[in-house]
Amino acid sequence: YKNAPPSVREVWLSTAVFAERPYLIYQDERITYAEAHAQVNAIAAWMAAQGVKPGDRVAIAMRNYPEWMLIYWACVASGVTAVGMNAWWTSEEMAYALNDSTPKILFIDAERLARFREKPELAGTVQLVGVRLDESPADITPWSEVIAHGGSMPDVTVDPESDACIFYTSGTTGFPKGAQLTHRGCVANLFNMLYAAASSALAVERATGVAPPATPPIPVTLVTTPLFHVTANNCAAYGATAAGGALVLMYRWDAGEALKIIERERVTGMSGVPIMARELITHPDFPNTDTSSLLALSGGGAQVPPDQVLKIDEAVETARPTTGYGMTETCGIITSLGGDFYVDRPDSAGPAMPVYEAKCVDDDGNEVPLGQTGELWVRGAAVIKGYINRPDATAESITDGWLHTGDIARMDEDGFIYIVDRKKDMVLRGGENVYCVEVEAAIYRHPAVAECSVFGVPDDRLGEEVAAAVFLKAGETLDADALREEMAKHIAKHKLPRFVWFVDQPLPRNASGKFLRRELRDTFATQMA
Ligand code: ATP
Ligand code: MG
Repeated sequence: YKNAPPSVREVWLSTAVFAERPYLIYQDERITYAEAHAQVNAIAAWMAAQGVKPGDRVAIAMRNYPEWMLIYWACVASGVTAVGMNAWWTSEEMAYALNDSTPKILFIDAERLARFREKPELAGTVQLVGVRLDESPADITPWSEVIAHGGSMPDVTVDPESDACIFYTSGTTGFPKGAQLTHRGCVANLFNMLYAAASSALAVERATGVAPPATPPIPVTLVTTPLFHVTANNCAAYGATAAGGALVLMYRWDAGEALKIIERERVTGMSGVPIMARELITHPDFPNTDTSSLLALSGGGAQVPPDQVLKIDEAVETARPTTGYGMTETCGIITSLGGDFYVDRPDSAGPAMPVYEAKCVDDDGNEVPLGQTGELWVRGAAVIKGYINRPDATAESITDGWLHTGDIARMDEDGFIYIVDRKKDMVLRGGENVYCVEVEAAIYRHPAVAECSVFGVPDDRLGEEVAAAVFLKAGETLDADALREEMAKHIAKHKLPRFVWFVDQPLPRNASGKFLRRELRDTFATQMA
């Protein structure tokens, strides 16, 4: 790793050799590496001409358009910090993040612009560039003007310890925090990604006896989650870009649409939250779709129900199940697991990647014996510098370089890590810890269940009780007793949900596609009151 490129600038510049290969694919638009480099250079040169200097910040507020990646590379390659604004944010949240990150320029699409306009106090605080706008208001620089600027990449030296980008956490447990991802951290995560791909290939060889091809296939990666989070960006996009692959961008996740794209573009891999892979293999069009190009089908960013790993393994002959566990605070993956290693241990998230040390600790920060659960702490090159403007949260999260993940995990004697739950989500029922994730996995074993989420609700006697929101597959019926009876075959009685709440629509998700347990808990509380 010491010899790896010191900054993301070098990573991007090195991809110019892929010249005429397709890079960004969005609906019927296709952009080659050569075209992307010309546009990235123009954006970077234009920003420099506006007086933007290395170390300044530039924000991106838009859906997964090709421009997203072009602006991102233009920033990081020229030493400017890219700020990813969550496209789902309300005008309130947008205003918060703009005040928090103080960008010099904001690249914005139509829907985000409407929200920006809802806050008159934001006018004039940042220079706006419109992307895919139908009209060109006087106070907004049109995208065409930026590209028409032309020019070459500014000749700057990028400090590896400087911020490549600021990405806000998903906001699953509280208000999003702006994580500072350094160039060194992003490069270290890229190394982890390449390592993970190589060890997955090795797992296939171990299982089949067939050596991986000398020249690995060029990736065609379906990007299903937003580019303002590490899953899509630092993992999927970085991995494919460094290998000269193509990124196929989706405006929004839709399993049927994804199947069409997989067949049409010969997609080799797809990253996303686990529920997406589940929707894909259970979609009515799945059996009639040619998915033979898929080499891996992964789920990460949230717990993968173990039975799903085995189902993926069976469903797509060519593709191996893979997973990654990671967080914004680690610029991407902490662990990764694929192929037969995963099929053997479907409840594990895999071993820590080479740039990390990992340990599970008790409430006092002391390491617990192997096999016991504790909060997972990790230390290594890809841990963020901190959260901008949040020295309190930074100090709480990082001690001596050790990042407190907030996740409860255990480690086995081979170094495999098992994520059991988020510390904040765990249900404390009459002095017993009940891990939501384990209860969810048991619910998912019932064939009638499409989606579920487990959370704790206050209880006078036990402190907390287990509740589950369940959304059934179309045409299925199920009652709470029948579900509990089935679950009792797999988990202890005290973990069975006392309340089963059958909902008539899919569960609420955040921009990353993760279920919003907190929101569900609150809605449930008001409905029960
Ligand atoms: P916030 O920190 O704002 O509450 P968030 O933690 O969801 O939101 P992210 O950084 O996007 O924000 O997500 C990281 C978290 O996602 C991890 O801490 C972990 O709880 C969960 N996670 C990620 N990958 C996995 C996985 N493979 N298995 C289980 N949980 C996972
Ligand atoms: Mg978090």
